[in-house]
Amino acid sequence: MAAAPALKHWRTTLERVEKFVSPLYFTDCNLRGRLFGASCPVAVLSSFLTPERLPYQEAVQRDFRPAQVGDSFGPTWWTCWFRVELTIPEAWVGQEVHLCWESDGEGLVWRDGEPVQGLTKEGEKTSYVLTDRLGERDPRRFKRFSCLSFPSSRDYSLTLYVEVACNGLLGAGKGSMIAAPDPEKMFQLSRAELAVFHRDVHMLLVDLELLLGIAKGLGKDNQRSFQALYTANQMVNVCDPDQPETFPVAQALASRFFGQHGGESQHTIHATGHCHIDTAWLWPFKETVRKCARSWVTALQLMERNPEFIFACSQAQQLEWVKSRYPGLYSRLQEFACRGQFVPVGGTWVEMDGNLPSGEAMVRQFLQGQNFFLQEFGKMCSEFWLPDTFGYSAQLPQIMHGCGIRRFLSQKLSWNLVNSFPHHTFFWEGLDGSRVLVHFPPGDSYGMQGSVEEVLKTVANNRDKGRANHSAFLFGFGDGGGGPTQTMLDRLKRLSNTDGLPRVQLSSPRQLFSALESDSEQLCTWVGELFLELHNGTYTTHAQIKKGNRECERILHDVELLSSLALARSAQFLYPAAQLQHLWRLLLLNQFHDVVTGSCIQMVAEEAMCHYEDIRSHGNTLLSAAAAALCAGEPGPEGLLIVNTLPWKRTEVMALPKPGGAHSLALVTVPSMGYAPVPPPTSLQPLLPQQPVFVVQETDGSVTLDNGIIRVKLDPTGRLTSLVLVASGREAIAEGAVGNQFVLFDDVPLYWDAWDVMDYHLETRKPVLGQAGTLAVGTEGGLRGSAWFLLQISPNSRLSQEVVLDVGCPYVRFHTEVHWHEAHKFLKVEFPARVRSSQATYEIQFGHLQRPTHYNTSWDWARFEVWAHRWMDLSEHGFGLALLNDCKYGASVRGSILSLSLLRAPKAPDATADTGRHEFTYALMPHKAPSPAPATSWSAFSVSSPAVLLETVKQAESSPQRRSLVLRLYEAHGSHVDCWLHLSLPVQEAILCDLLERPDPAGHLTLRDSRLKLTFSPFQVLSLLLVLQPPPH
Ligand SMILES: [Zn+2]
Repeated sequence: MAAAPALKHWRTTLERVEKFVSPLYFTDCNLRGRLFGASCPVAVLSSFLTPERLPYQEAVQRDFRPAQVGDSFGPTWWTCWFRVELTIPEAWVGQEVHLCWESDGEGLVWRDGEPVQGLTKEGEKTSYVLTDRLGERDPRRFKRFSCLSFPSSRDYSLTLYVEVACNGLLGAGKGSMIAAPDPEKMFQLSRAELAVFHRDVHMLLVDLELLLGIAKGLGKDNQRSFQALYTANQMVNVCDPDQPETFPVAQALASRFFGQHGGESQHTIHATGHCHIDTAWLWPFKETVRKCARSWVTALQLMERNPEFIFACSQAQQLEWVKSRYPGLYSRLQEFACRGQFVPVGGTWVEMDGNLPSGEAMVRQFLQGQNFFLQEFGKMCSEFWLPDTFGYSAQLPQIMHGCGIRRFLSQKLSWNLVNSFPHHTFFWEGLDGSRVLVHFPPGDSYGMQGSVEEVLKTVANNRDKGRANHSAFLFGFGDGGGGPTQTMLDRLKRLSNTDGLPRVQLSSPRQLFSALESDSEQLCTWVGELFLELHNGTYTTHAQIKKGNRECERILHDVELLSSLALARSAQFLYPAAQLQHLWRLLLLNQFHDVVTGSCIQMVAEEAMCHYEDIRSHGNTLLSAAAAALCAGEPGPEGLLIVNTLPWKRTEVMALPKPGGAHSLALVTVPSMGYAPVPPPTSLQPLLPQQPVFVVQETDGSVTLDNGIIRVKLDPTGRLTSLVLVASGREAIAEGAVGNQFVLFDDVPLYWDAWDVMDYHLETRKPVLGQAGTLAVGTEGGLRGSAWFLLQISPNSRLSQEVVLDVGCPYVRFHTEVHWHEAHKFLKVEFPARVRSSQATYEIQFGHLQRPTHYNTSWDWARFEVWAHRWMDLSEHGFGLALLNDCKYGASVRGSILSLSLLRAPKAPDATADTGRHEFTYALMPHKAPSPAPATSWSAFSVSSPAVLLETVKQAESSPQRRSLVLRLYEAHGSHVDCWLHLSLPVQEAILCDLLERPDPAGHLTLRDSRLKLTFSPFQVLSLLLVLQPPPH
């Protein structure tokens, strides 16, 4: 007879159920204590240690020595291979048997030469299912036993290998997660045994935990909450942990509760398995390859057991690694992709930083990524996937559009420190007006675990209630955690349609976005950049990586241009397509969101520098080969030709090599994307329409440089006291102020050292003051004038700078060398301008945008440190001052002060970041126009409008007979423009195409007198396919 109904106390009832499922309390008699049954040790355990990451075939040949549970192994970054010989007791016939394995470090189980599952304690992967049901009547030793079948012998013996990496899920930080790695860390094996697993107990535990979650999550004001709690309580009443025959009654109570459905209006949660794997971060690139294998093989195993389970996987580079290192695993991934369970997403080569890469580099992320996905999985991605990055350029919508993508998933803006972003589902309109549909999972995470709390948060937190009734829910442990678990799936499946909760379905990103699109009329639109109000130190940290990035983007641009021109003009020239693809992929890899940003450990920074070195050395070899082929037979009088790879005509002073290794200066003029011979030395003077540079040092030590265009005055310590645009007499430096003022700040963030510079650093500003009399004249004038000085920044750090003015040049350059040995300091240089404007302009990918120079609102103030590419500008009507740079990204304009961020000195995760010698150049240009437009010879291409820039010239990816070029141009002023593109190459056909180089069927252009007419809207990017005529013979 059932007991009579009793009055129940909320808290005691709740805690009673909690104790029944607790892994800590009452495990002698509660349900959790019955999860595992009988156990026995493995028969033989042996191991060996290696500093290398060996392939399986090589590892199993090594000399394994006896090992036991409790052994420690290491140090950090080594690998311990275990051979596990096991025999399952015959008495366990009919039971589910697990290998229970707990060790520090990330493990991978190998069976019959193939990886089968990851084992990572931090990712709740501590057991490997040997068999679902141990067989009784199987004849012989089994050959392959997949986790679903059972052994085919009465001798249930098997040998497995477990490859354990000596690093945790998040590396090996000494003392804290982001501290520099401890190279001496040791790891331990704490459990290796066989045990019987009770699946029915597991399912009851899942139900009881969900019911507890509902009771707590919905709270005492909610009727459904009490129903959940009382159901759980009744389950405890009927369930005797020692008598499995009581379980079905308890199970039935749960099923009745979960089978009570919600109404039609319920929110739908689309749960997608995921595992965000940082391509390198607190561990080296090579470890990421193994992290991918461990995580994806675990996901595959779940797909086999749960045919409805869908797993989204981004980053072509990681797939390419697994393809070459784990071919067996890779072909199974492809199989599951065909079934629609393994879903490649994102379309990019890696999940890149969203701020620093150039426009062209962003295009290449998609070009390399989408082509890889098409080739390997039969289709391109339709969603851009960037859950974790440190801001999003306003040009991304246009770039996505051009790459066949209209949907974007991310979530990082939930990290905003100051302002809460007002949407989770919205349209994002980019710089040119392109729109994409964006979804941020409202649970503000990409590593959910399927709990009721997370499900309820997803609904409650949604900022677009009433506008969007669908949400994404990305579940699984990221990085080394190995992705989702069976428990997460069991939870989510149980919650599919229960009254009081949102509906939960296992969906692909495509299904989620289709649902959002079909009901998108009420969605709001956000215009312009998605600025992350955090991590703004990443624009500056690791200056050498930033410099490598800028320089290598330029090198690859130049190699492609010159190789394209050589291809067009020479029948013999072979375009180095394969080498260029390799170098581009290295550059794109370094643009991963923890590498180019400088938020990685020292080991990764060193690997990144090697990648840049490869690009520099191979790139320069390719450049020489292309230049030689292009200019064959046309040497100048001194055997020299000067090539201009920029799309406008340039007249500049150049240092030309002289015999014996010396250099001489010459003024040279080279047309747009073309070349010209070096003028003979005697003809130099007549070529000078401009005034030569005058250099005067006054008795007080100050120096004036004047080229008739601008006049620069430096005080005796090298600071800029005056900068005059000569023609108008306009002074660019604010009255009573000095420019080129170095300033030092204390730079101690709250936690994320390499990542964050906090607003309060501005309160610690200290100008660095030099010694009078240190300024000296360098080059004495004529073609070039310069002055130089030394500056002691601190007892440990010093700087030297040469201030250079060339003939005819509208800007003054500051060549800077710094020996930097600081801790938690930030060096910037400031230029107070005699300009007043509420907006400053910053160059971004394929264009520029404005940001406020004031702190009116919290949104303005949160942008106290911003990013820019090659220039920033502060202009009022008719006059402005631009600050240019060759390798910097951090900047700000507050009031009238332009400030360029130069060097930081964070200590985590790389304690050596930025210590050492640095070289960089910035330049200052006063100008009249409202925006600082980039200002027998031969020119390949030129554009009739200064508003339109020809950014890229390259061979088309798939080019018949390899004789098609792709040109990419963009409108840079923010205006509607018609212009003419002049071509000197033998072109037979011109067609508009998208960023993936797919021709626009209506995009045929008429070629008239070697000219093409092009029409642009503001900041529009256009790509053209040019089919070249057959080569001359
Ligand atoms: Zn990440």
